[in-house]
This record gives sequence, C-alpha cells and structure tokens, in this order.
Amino acid sequence: MTKHVRDPRLDERERDAQAPAPAPEVPQIAYEPGGQPNRSVAARAALARGYGNQAVGRILARDPNPELEAVKKVGHKTGAEVDTALDASPFFKPLIADGVKAGKKADGHVHIHDAATFQTKCVAYLSGKQNPNTGAVFTDDEAKEFAKNVNAYQEGKEIHVHEERGEAATTVHESMHLFANDKWLPKVGFNANEGTTEYFTKKLCAELKLTRGGYYADQYAAVKALVDYVGETYVAEAYFEGKLDELEAAVDKKAGEAGAGTFGKWLGYMKASKYAEAKALT
Ligand SMILES: [Zn+2]
Repeated sequence: MTKHVRDPRLDERERDAQAPAPAPEVPQIAYEPGGQPNRSVAARAALARGYGNQAVGRILARDPNPELEAVKKVGHKTGAEVDTALDASPFFKPLIADGVKAGKKADGHVHIHDAATFQTKCVAYLSGKQNPNTGAVFTDDEAKEFAKNVNAYQEGKEIHVHEERGEAATTVHESMHLFANDKWLPKVGFNANEGTTEYFTKKLCAELKLTRGGYYADQYAAVKALVDYVGETYVAEAYFEGKLDELEAAVDKKAGEAGAGTFGKWLGYMKASKYAEAKALT
C-alpha cells in the first residue's frame, strides 16, 4: 500500500477498530467492501478486505449513455498470471519456493465472475455468516443488499472476484495472501497482515508496471516503516517462510538496549489500529 498512483475511486480505506469483538460462534466473512464501508466493518470482520468502486458505479448509473452502461471489465490478473509473475521475480521466487513445493499457487483459486453470477455466489457465501453491520446472522435481504458492495470475497483458499469491481491488481493482493506462511496471520492479526500483504502486492505490481491504488493505506504505511527500520528480508522471510522469531529478534535488537519486547508492542498497536504509535516504535 504505497502512495503510488492514487485511484480517485478509492478514498475510503481508513479504518477504525472501535467495534466489539463478534460472537465467536457465528462465522465471519472475508471480503472486500466497495464504496464507503462502515468504518467498523473491517474491525468486526477480522478478515475483511477493503476496496471500493461504488463511486464509479454511481457515476455510471447516472449516465444515460448506453456505452457507459455496458459491462466494464476490470481486467483482473488471473491466478496463473500472478503465479507466472512471482516465478519470474528474482525477489519473490526464492521466498515462495517452499510454499510452491507444498502446493501453493494462485492458478485455479482466483474465480472471476460476471455480475449476476457474483451476486448469486456472494449471497450464498454470506448466508449463515455474521453481518458486520448488525453483529447478527445475515437475513436474506441483508445479504442481497450487502453483496452489492462487495468487490471480492475469499472462502478458504478460493478467491471470488466481480469482473467489474476493484482494479486489475485486486487479484494480485488476494493471491498474495495465498502465499503467506500459515504461521503469519495468527501471530500478527488482521491489520499487520493486510499491510504486509499490500506491501508485497505493491512490490510485485511495480515489477509488473501495474498500477496499484492506495489500499489499506494506514496498515501499509506502518508496515513500510517497519520494513525501512528492520530490513525487508526479515519481514519477507517472516511473511512467506514463517520466520517470525527471527523478525521479532531483529526488531528488538534494532531497538537497542531496552529494546526487548518492541516487536510485541508493535503488534499490539497494529492489532488495536494504533498506527501512529506503531510507527513511532520504528
Ligand atoms: Zn488482503
């Protein structure tokens, strides 16, 4: 999530973490909201993702020109394209080598749907899960309405994307998640995970000369500061290879004589969405 070319459609992504933890027995959703998401949504849906193009949808809806009402495909990168890009990257290839050997790949896991199919599948996905806006299980009507503002969602290792929503790199970000080490997310939590995923998304997009908007701006900025502080290799090996102890030791060492526990504090601030405090440590 660097500030590269900023997509004017996407001025929402700031997030709060004020919402109470949801009831654990109701499954939560992992999705990318479009438009202006409720600022509590991401915090309540621990795996929520945030992108938006509702503004474009509104503009198109207002415009009587039939050409503008035609399907506007984003041109999402396919899973196979992301695999190829990672394999061709001197930076990424060694980092994901063990994961690839173990069967990790994006090909076959990125499903790009037309509008009607996406709506049907998304509503089915939401059914029985917790509505982050109410804290209760989605009603059928709520699910239908909610799905209109979802760009993509992830169910297990399967990524489902609306062909007209988000941007081409949306699937790069989503695919990157698939290559993270299994130890990563449980240790670092939602915000640090999204910020780090976005950091590597931007890196791969830069290699591909693919525009990437300012997604997860706060999370990204905090992770970027961590990378600048401790070095990219530690963060990359923690994310892709599960070397979390090494990252922790490196951060604490970098913080000097009284530095023990610094990484733990950083994680705590990230989990609480206290990005300024997290950045102040690095
Ligand atoms: Zn993500």
